[in-house]
Amino acid sequence: MRTGLYINNEWRRPASGATLEVINPATEEVLACVAVAEETDVNAAVAAARSCFESDEWRALSPRRRGALLHRAGELLAARRNEMAELESRQNGKPLFESKIDAAMTVQVLQYYAGWADKVAGSVIPVDGTDFVYTTREPVGVVAAIVPWNFPLNLASWKFAPALAAGCTVVLKPASETPLTALAMAEIMEEAGFPPGAFNVITGGGSTTGAMLVRHPDVDKIAFTGSTAVGKEIMRQAADTLKRVTLELGGKSPNIIFADADLKSAVRGAQSGIFYGKGEVCAAGSRLLVEKSVHDQVIEQLAARARKLVPGDPFDSNTRLGAIASKQRQDAVLSYIEAGKGEATLVAGGNATTVNGKGYFIEATVFDDARPGMRIVDEEIFGPVLSVITFDGLEEGVQLANQTVYGLAAGIWTRDIQKAFEAARGIRAGTVWVNTYNLYDAAAPFGGFKDSGFGRDLGREALHGYTEAKTVWMGLQ
Ligand code: NAD
Ligand code: MN
Repeated sequence: MRTGLYINNEWRRPASGATLEVINPATEEVLACVAVAEETDVNAAVAAARSCFESDEWRALSPRRRGALLHRAGELLAARRNEMAELESRQNGKPLFESKIDAAMTVQVLQYYAGWADKVAGSVIPVDGTDFVYTTREPVGVVAAIVPWNFPLNLASWKFAPALAAGCTVVLKPASETPLTALAMAEIMEEAGFPPGAFNVITGGGSTTGAMLVRHPDVDKIAFTGSTAVGKEIMRQAADTLKRVTLELGGKSPNIIFADADLKSAVRGAQSGIFYGKGEVCAAGSRLLVEKSVHDQVIEQLAARARKLVPGDPFDSNTRLGAIASKQRQDAVLSYIEAGKGEATLVAGGNATTVNGKGYFIEATVFDDARPGMRIVDEEIFGPVLSVITFDGLEEGVQLANQTVYGLAAGIWTRDIQKAFEAARGIRAGTVWVNTYNLYDAAAPFGGFKDSGFGRDLGREALHGYTEAKTVWMGLQ
């Protein structure tokens, strides 16, 4: 297992020798001690990325050849996907079947952007007069990718794959809780043939190592996924060096069940919408809006399903609810559950638990009779906790859906195509799922409205965030 800093295609010890522990949240065991990058190390990583970006070698590498390197990295990752999935489950606590889905999507993301590398093109612009005007899309330069612990490698690939495809170089800082798969990815990128400095991985804390990247004058862009509070701080800190930033932040996504929906699949969708990934999913459907006339049926089915969803060993193939990512996160989620007990009606779960006497688990928790103004409705919990709100009619459903500072995603369950269309149009969110939830594809843009941030990951959209437009005027007499 790699625990050093990966800078300029070399494994280095941190200048200070400091390390941080990576804990398996399902067993409470120490998995590894990884390096803490301090000022000297951060400077070295940025310098490596900068000098690669400006090197003849990187410039001479054709877009098609860069694409081939990304494609090769995808193949190498596919060959190591089981090992990678196991490492992800160990450091994050998610069930192994989920980590396998994450690894498969990461392969897809690498290969999708491999295909884009030689298709990032400008255009010829018609102007008044005889001058010939064209645009090109040039890489923004050195990109620092700062990512969270919930989908550690997959979310990292949403940044570094389009960045490299566009011709940028990358310094990746994974979350301090889950750095191990990013480090393993560095081995793959080197084997794929990326030259020294194109892809670097440095580990350490957010307010220390992460903040140094944000302030560094030689970093051109921060691609961030994480909390809204940290996103705001990054935007402030990035102002002094006028860095480009894209921010994928928190959410409190509404999942709306209309009375005419296929209730069986709607309830199944509501369940996986909040309990998949232990609810540690930015797009989790954490506010369930249920139309009044089906409220009792939905609550009954949902509570029965939640009670059956017993937290278990991530490596047991029957487990559908793993361990919360850390003790700190478990405490935060429990404090929301305590607040909820005083404001709404607990109908399932509500307790911390262990598996084989260890680990930071929380039962699948459902609150009924929730409404705006309650903490469990207004704030992102980021755990397996669902708040059910009753509404009556399309207008009130959409109004409640939008009654949030966030705008990341939304779900709509109905058999009425007109209603689906109107709700999809009325909801202010970056993704709307109709009669499904939590689906992702490398080709489908993902990101937020409002306090859920700006800029998009995935799809063609993401490439805009890693390029600058250059306009060239050729004066012709
Ligand atoms: P966080 O914001 O604390 O940390 C995310 C990353 O930022 C980590 O790598 C961390 O080390 C780093 N960081 C922390 N403080 C920093 C600072 N001052 N300067 C620079 N870097 C810093 O987030 P978290 O609590 O670890 O993760 C959960 C949050 O992430 C939730 O709010 C969730 O909604 C959000 N999230 C959003 C998405 C999305 O796509 N929109 C995806 C996953 C998670
Ligand atoms: Mn944090």
